[in-house]
Amino acid sequence: MSETQESSIFTKIIAREIPADVVFENERIIAITDIAPKAPVHLLVIPKTERYRNVGELAAGDPALLAEVVAVSQQLATERSGGEFRLVFNTGPSAGQTVFHVHAHVLGGSLPEGTLG
Ligand code: 5GP
Repeated sequence: MSETQESSIFTKIIAREIPADVVFENERIIAITDIAPKAPVHLLVIPKTERYRNVGELAAGDPALLAEVVAVSQQLATERSGGEFRLVFNTGPSAGQTVFHVHAHVLGGSLPEGTLG
């Protein structure tokens, strides 16, 4: 990120400049509950670096960090939705991405069958 760019909403949450319900944190990753949940369990698992805008950039730039995002998602879903969950990475505005700091949506708990909505 260049110095003239504003930090993302998630960077502000990581810095505790704005509040969030933090459900997991280590040196590299933070996980929070989504402010507008689309499922009974809706968490966001977020690498702390804002170097990567989307999952493709993360996969290319730091595959170990992507694997850690998946492992944390699995762990949180095991605790909160019996280990069953949907993992979503929106990529680009037409796919619904609104925050350009890579994050995984962990959706769980009685999701509609056979849809991606
Ligand atoms: P995207 O649309 O980029 O895939 O996902 C961004 C997500 O961040 C949305 O589901 C939105 O509800 C969530 N979100 C946006 N601002 C905040 C916030 O200030 N706090 C929390 N907890 N979630 C947020």
